Amino acid sequence: MRKFDGDELVIATHNQGKVREISALLAPHASIFYSAGELGLDEPEETGATFAENAVLKAKAAAMASGKVALADDSGLSVNALGGDPGIYSARWGGESKDFNLAMSKVNEALGGAQDRSAKFVCALAICWPDGHSEVFEGEARGVITWPMRGDNGFGYDAIFQADGYDISFAEMDGDKKQAISHRANAFELLVRDCLS
Ligand code: IMP
Repeated sequence: MRKFDGDELVIATHNQGKVREISALLAPHASIFYSAGELGLDEPEETGATFAENAVLKAKAAAMASGKVALADDSGLSVNALGGDPGIYSARWGGESKDFNLAMSKVNEALGGAQDRSAKFVCALAICWPDGHSEVFEGEARGVITWPMRGDNGFGYDAIFQADGYDISFAEMDGDKKQAISHRANAFELLVRDCLS
């Protein structure tokens, strides 16, 4: 396992929300952050077959283009009875207009009367060096798909996902609480434990 011991990190996303969230989480471990957007880096096509492959692809593209260490994430919802769908296509199920009410309805309709409503959110985090070396960390949050939608917090599929051990959806949960148990939090914990400390 290669350790990150520099102070500069490129966050390989054009999404300002992700840049803010990730730089806050990593502030104790790096002091200078750049986003792929501010460095004018292209967004590579997500052609990988898994969350991990897509995260590595994004981190590698940013590391190669910038000559700096880069971090990228890829995440989504994986429903067991749907063979893991929407999976790496989670963002795309919302269509051009990123309509997640539509995406959630599609998941519920695809499930129909299925007995097995188990699902998980997955987050893959990849860190890549300019020489092409990369490390990947994967976090999960397990739960079930519920219907109808409940709650106004969160984003994406949160309103139909109930984590194991809870009786409220991710969208009904306080933001800090979700942050503490989410797939993203779990992946970051592994990154910090194995690569940043
Ligand atoms: P990407 O990682 O930016 O490619 O986007 C992944 C997609 O997965 C998002 O657009 C959301 O639809 C979904 N997703 C990822 N994490 C979460 C989450 O914590 N809650 C709800 N939806 C999520």
